[in-house]
Amino acid sequence: MNLRPRQEWGTIPWAPDIYGRSHLGIPLEVWRPGGTCRILVFAAIHGEEPETTFALSRALRQLTAPSLHAAVVLAANPDGLIRGTRGNARGVELNRNFPTTDWQPGPVAHRSTLDDPRDVTLSPGASAGSEAETKALIGLVHELRPKAVIALHAPLACVDDPNESVLGRWIAARTGLPLVRDVGYPTPGSFGTWGAEQGIPVITYEFPLATTDALVREHVPVLVELLARRVT
Ligand SMILES: [Zn+2]
Repeated sequence: MNLRPRQEWGTIPWAPDIYGRSHLGIPLEVWRPGGTCRILVFAAIHGEEPETTFALSRALRQLTAPSLHAAVVLAANPDGLIRGTRGNARGVELNRNFPTTDWQPGPVAHRSTLDDPRDVTLSPGASAGSEAETKALIGLVHELRPKAVIALHAPLACVDDPNESVLGRWIAARTGLPLVRDVGYPTPGSFGTWGAEQGIPVITYEFPLATTDALVREHVPVLVELLARRVT
């Protein structure tokens, strides 16, 4: 596949569209495909996982032309990204805010690092789908109608694909990460559950705990392939 020369990797050569605004008013950006959308790849719905934005951006910057089949969202939660918080600017864990049949009110516990206890609490939102970023992402998915969505996260080091689809198995084989059918704990109101209820398969691609150099070496090339050619 043809890639831009390395000297040009400093910028993204195409302008995104704006699919909404965050709570703080930051544009929610999508880089649209040149053809029919088959996959949507998004990063940083958790603001303290900036490596997902960096890796996806680095992949996008290597393409010679917009992906024919993939839409790209570099930051689904830009307020959290600039503040370094998992949730959005209102303290809502967006990945527990989607309007699913299992959405639950009440605090959401998470751990700051893999070694910490699950003792930090966030909100799932005042109601299901209450947040600007959640509503905008739902609107984008309904508009794009992708055949699958790849949600980038870190650092659980697995490919979570309840369907064990061709695409999920390809990512697992290509990265060496284990393919799992769930992450081992309940995730009410998650994007993945919402997608499943809409009939849209969601593959959660969890980077390992890794240095920037290791991500560039081992995962950016996988993202480049996902954007540059149709895997399924
Ligand atoms: Zn995450």
